[in-house]
Amino acid sequence: MNIHEYQAKQLFSNFSIPVPQGGVATTPEQAEHVVQNLPGAAWVVKAQIHAGARGKAGGVKVARTPQEASAYAQDMLGKQLVTHQTDAAGLPVNSVWVEEASAIKSEFYLSLLVDRDSEQLIFIASAAGGMDIEAVAAETPEKIVHVKVHPAAGLQPYHCRQVAAALGLSQKEQQSQLQTIMSGVYNLFLAKDCSQIEINPLIETADGKLVALDAKINFDDNAVPLHPEIAAMRDASQEDAKEAEAKQFDLNYITLGGNIGCMVNGAGLAMATMDMVKLKGGAPANFLDVGGGTNKEKVKEAFKLILSDGTVKAVLVNIFGGIVKCDVIAAGILAAVQEMHLSIPVVVRLEGTNVELGLSMLSDSGLGLHTAEDLNSAAEQAVKLAEAV
Ligand code: GDP
Ligand code: MN
Repeated sequence: MNIHEYQAKQLFSNFSIPVPQGGVATTPEQAEHVVQNLPGAAWVVKAQIHAGARGKAGGVKVARTPQEASAYAQDMLGKQLVTHQTDAAGLPVNSVWVEEASAIKSEFYLSLLVDRDSEQLIFIASAAGGMDIEAVAAETPEKIVHVKVHPAAGLQPYHCRQVAAALGLSQKEQQSQLQTIMSGVYNLFLAKDCSQIEINPLIETADGKLVALDAKINFDDNAVPLHPEIAAMRDASQEDAKEAEAKQFDLNYITLGGNIGCMVNGAGLAMATMDMVKLKGGAPANFLDVGGGTNKEKVKEAFKLILSDGTVKAVLVNIFGGIVKCDVIAAGILAAVQEMHLSIPVVVRLEGTNVELGLSMLSDSGLGLHTAEDLNSAAEQAVKLAEAV
């Protein structure tokens, strides 16, 4: 789960990580009001969306007067912001974060995540912050340091000294500030079951202070229910509507943009099905794993999801009945097709327990469903039928 920058900065504050003073606003008037209560002579208005690269997309603006802050808020609020981290539709800006402007001397990069290979936490840091860290990693990887922290031993002063050296922080005072920040990040990460914390940029101000100018936190979805205060920060407006709906029915759904809807049980089989669709020259509209112990209701909901945006030209159902029986799946498909008055072709490939019964239910239904013996021919049929529509 992701949260907004303003929420992440609140958590940073709670864990002694310095952030600029600011406030959140959902109207231009509020933005102006926030500025009137902030120190300084300039303020930054920042669009709150669950994506980065806002700076280059007009989502971060420096205002010199409260009226200017209000005008920038007016420009951003209620619009979709498209950055190179969003899709072409962008994400809705429902709030802005307004903070006192900082005088930047240097911009660094600092993040903490789980390194699965070494089974440790890993700090990633670079003196080349502010910009695209992916570009730094690709072009000048030597500018990035990795410092692993064994979770049993915890964060030690030498870890912080390694990062300080990499950032070129030679003064004792700044090394101590960095240690406070790294401890805060480390403690926050463990306390709230984060999967990633990223500060880009971490800045050194003109008067030598280290401050988190941006804040991004991802949480481990499996742990969010353990932290009600984190769960309450969820903003569904930033999530794909279909993916959010799928979650409610315990379906794993990812929008992909092609025109062949895929309904499969098991993540591995779903991946193989998408590969097969591609191999046959088609494009999957989605990834959908209906799960091992699925039932008639779930199959119906899955159909609704797949068909909800009208781009799907054919549906490919590929189910292996191991735990779930094929006749149960067939009953779900029939119910969905009948209730939804489905007019696009549906190709079904079933295998496993009660497969004969399931297939005969489909072919006896008179609903014109296509059945296939194996995945190869099922994918081929689906691609052909989608082209013909
Ligand atoms: P992102 O583009 O979504 O990652 O948003 P950031 O919060 O990282 O802001 C993008 C860039 O705007 C930063 O790298 C800074 O260069 C600039 N910026 C943001 N806040 C300030 C500020 O208070 N003062 C100055 N001078 N620049 C800022
Ligand atoms: Mn940033």
